[in-house]
Parts: sequence; C-alpha cells; structure tokens
Amino acid sequence: MPASEFTLIYRYFSALGRGEAVDLSVGDDCAILCLAPGERLATSVDTMVEGVHFPEDMFPEDVGFRAVSAAASDLAAMGARPIGMTLALTLPAADELWLNAFSQGLAAAVSEYQLPLVGGDTTRGPLTISVQVLGALPENQALLRGGARVGDDVCVSGTLGDAAAALAFLQGDWQPEPEHAGYLLDRFNRPRARLELGLQLRGVASAAIDISDGLLADAGHIAAASGVKIVIEPELLPVSSALDSRTDAAQKLRWALVGGDDYELCFCLTAGAKLPPACTRIGRVEAGSGVDCGLDLDLAAGYQHF
Ligand code: ADP
Ligand code: MG
Repeated sequence: MPASEFTLIYRYFSALGRGEAVDLSVGDDCAILCLAPGERLATSVDTMVEGVHFPEDMFPEDVGFRAVSAAASDLAAMGARPIGMTLALTLPAADELWLNAFSQGLAAAVSEYQLPLVGGDTTRGPLTISVQVLGALPENQALLRGGARVGDDVCVSGTLGDAAAALAFLQGDWQPEPEHAGYLLDRFNRPRARLELGLQLRGVASAAIDISDGLLADAGHIAAASGVKIVIEPELLPVSSALDSRTDAAQKLRWALVGGDDYELCFCLTAGAKLPPACTRIGRVEAGSGVDCGLDLDLAAGYQHF
C-alpha cells in the first residue's frame, strides 16, 4: 500500500521545522511563530512550475534548494530576518525517491538560511512548488523599492548574467570554458539568497530589490516606485570570469542586463557611501523616469508570463 499523504509529510518534511522563532511547527492546523516587540511580519510567496521555472530534468535536490532561495531572496530584498516558511507542494505521484532527494535540497536551504519549514499543503497534480516565506523586520526599517533619491549610487551584489548563461548552456545554445561549467551550473541550480546583505543594508540603503527577472526590469521597478530615473553604466556591470572567457561583448551585456534568476540584490546608497563586500557600483539615480543604460540591444523587459 502506498504511504498516505500524512506519512509522507511526516517522513520528509516534519524534521525541518525547528527554529528560534518557532513555537509550533508541522502537524497542527497552523504553525505559531514568535515576533519580538516592535517587530513586523514580512511575507511573500513564490511558485515554481516544472517546465516553466525549472527544466524537467533538474535534480530534485536542486529543485528544492532553488525554490527556497527564490522565495528567501524576497526577504533579503526587504532586509527581513528569516523566521520560517511554508511549502505548498503539488506532486504528480508519491515518488519517494524524488521526495527524499527533494527534501534533502530543502534541508540544505533550511540550514543555510535558518528558515525552518513550519507547515504546508500537499496535493496531486503537475509538479508545482510554492514556498511562502515569513520574516521579521523592526518597525519602519524595511528596504522598499520606493526610497531611491536623485544623486544616490546604484549598486548590485555578486555578478550578473550567470544564471542566464547557465540556461543557454543547458539548452545547448552556448558553451562555457570547461573549467567554468561547474560554477555556472551551480549559479543556476543553487542560487543563494543574499539574506546577510539585506540585513546589512537596513538603515543604509534607500531602496532595494532582488534581481529575479533581470537587472533592467527590476531596476525599472525601483525607478517607477521611487519616481526617478536609473542610469546604468554598462562597463561597470560585474560579470564572472565564466562569462568573460567565451562570450562576445553584446551577448555578455544582454545576459547581465536582462538575464533572470540571479537573485542578487540591486540597491541604492547615498553617493560615495562605503560599499558592502562583494558589491559593485553600477550607476546613479537621476531625475526622470525609467532605466537608461545608453544601449539599444533590442532588449526585452524581463520575463513575463502573459
Ligand atoms: P489541514 O488539512 O489542516 O490544512 P493538512 O492535512 O494539509 O492540514 O496538513 C497536516 C499538517 O502537515 C499541517 O501542519 C501542515 O502545515 C503540514 N504540511 C502539509 N503539507 C506539508 C508540506 N508539503 N510541507 C510541510 N508541512 C506540510
Ligand atoms: Mg486544518
């Protein structure tokens, strides 16, 4: 007899639910989390559909880790401290080999981000993973999209375009140097949410967003919400040596500007302020609207579903 839904939940998910802010975890009708006095709850949900957000042959460990990273990245962008997450999982079948590997990827993310899995829902259907993240923020300290001021520096963390290049590699459209292949695949399969950086930017950055749909699209959200223009200097964009090694300049820029799934942060700082480690200044905030990168690369405005 196949294991019941409750046995599967118990077997694969119930051990991932311990954390500092967790009063009650998997097993009851709700989880209960603690907030400190003066703290606010930040919450966001992200859905990954097989064949749309990840390739059908992605390892289940990576599917799990990546789904949590994508959701946790929104907490990073707000400067929130992770306190827990819930998982709505739709599975085509109760495949325990798959579930076992998937839950190991989840476990890696739970431990890396200190983001316990405190509840969820399990249903049958096409493979779909929704992760809702919960974070805590001191009142009035959230990093918002709307705070950029004329004169600010525009900065990003890490390197841009790696995940887009990795996807081109996976789809057989492009070949990196062999010594860079592992790095690139890791950037696509196991993106890291910049939670530490988000905490460091509290009270420092005037605005922030995570780069999930590509820099141009996401910087555009800061520009729109703040009522400013963002000017990006393409020669300042940080790209990895994996992209530098075997890419024509236009392709590299296209990946860095419109490639999605990097989950780095884009943020604004008072001009000349000290940059956090592994961050790069890429431009400035001016009066006006939209994003100007001084190029006409025939660029789409980020991934859109409809
Ligand atoms: P209910 O019917 O009350 O919504 P369920 O029967 O769906 O509860 O789930 C039982 C318990 O298992 C709940 O605590 C729920 O949060 C948890 N749960 C269900 N699916 C998952 C999952 N995929 N990951 C983590 N916890 C889950
Ligand atoms: Mg119930």
